[in-house]
Amino acid sequence: MTDNSLPDSSDFTIGILDWYDQHGRRNLPWHAQQDPYRIWVSEIMLQQTRVETVIPFYQDFMHRFPDIGSLAEANLDEVMTYWSGLGYYSRARNLHRAARRICNEQGGCFPQTLHEIMSLPGVGRSTAGAILAFSRNARHPILDANVKRILSRYHAVEGPPEKQDTQKRLWALADQHTPEARVAEYTQAIMDLGALICRVHKPLCTECPVASECLAYSQDQVASFPARKQKKPRPLKSCWMLLLRRSDGCILLYKRPAKGIWGGLWSLPQLDDPELDVNQYCKEMFEFEVTSIHSLARIRHGFSHYELEITPVLCETIVPETDQTYDNHGYIWYNPKCPATAGLPAAVKRILALLDSL
Ligand code: SF4
Repeated sequence: MTDNSLPDSSDFTIGILDWYDQHGRRNLPWHAQQDPYRIWVSEIMLQQTRVETVIPFYQDFMHRFPDIGSLAEANLDEVMTYWSGLGYYSRARNLHRAARRICNEQGGCFPQTLHEIMSLPGVGRSTAGAILAFSRNARHPILDANVKRILSRYHAVEGPPEKQDTQKRLWALADQHTPEARVAEYTQAIMDLGALICRVHKPLCTECPVASECLAYSQDQVASFPARKQKKPRPLKSCWMLLLRRSDGCILLYKRPAKGIWGGLWSLPQLDDPELDVNQYCKEMFEFEVTSIHSLARIRHGFSHYELEITPVLCETIVPETDQTYDNHGYIWYNPKCPATAGLPAAVKRILALLDSL
């Protein structure tokens, strides 16, 4: 794309590449091979998640699912187990669905064009561009959150980045700055610059390789870019989660529906009404009685649209350890001391960990 109204981009691009040569992150595990499958998995994991957090999850995931065929053949439960703790679980479901589609419809060959890659569930233009840049050194711009922030500041782009006009302008700038050669390195370089220098809070402008031409910096307006949406405060909701304990220490978990919060993961039975009689609830719901009820320390868990305050309630039950009533009915008796393969939300893991300190 050529737009004569845009400023000359060569200083910006050269500055970032020179900086990357000295300071960039060169040993990321997904760059060891130019395998589009591995890069795809890493890019999906990196959405909304920092590199340092992703690396151990990525390594375990690749150990178990080293290629697209192994991911497609696995059952979703196991995939969710490997995603457990990374959050934004629809990413894992989409990854699994896309792997099956690639194996069923394309003989396991990863798609090669931007358009084909963007048609995979969970893959947008920026992710598709990054996959092609890293796996084939093909010239495609990216516009993830880091790049949006750098370009908004460098060019003092007005308007919230999620607005269509602003998006259009940012994509044009991203395209203009993307070089013809060293595309993979440039792509990593601009991601790194956003993560390490042009950070959300307290950017390190004095160490920035493009500071001399940065409009926001020269105008002392860095904090004003990118423009922020008026954030509504997140409402606080409350619930009670039951730790229904069998005589051998196993805890009853149920599988959440595939869609919605923690979709497809194993969770604790949940009550939203504090007035509800736990014993009565267990009799009606599970046909067993509880012999003691004990509230544990509350925890808070943040979702994108609300904050959840959870009161864990430990209930001893009279269920014997030989009980199999719930097996294969969307429930499992889960042994926290010897956990079976089951994807658990991070909040449920935290609650189960409370049992260790009792
Ligand atoms: Fe970001 Fe500061 Fe560099 Fe401008 S000078 S691109 S605001 S780090």
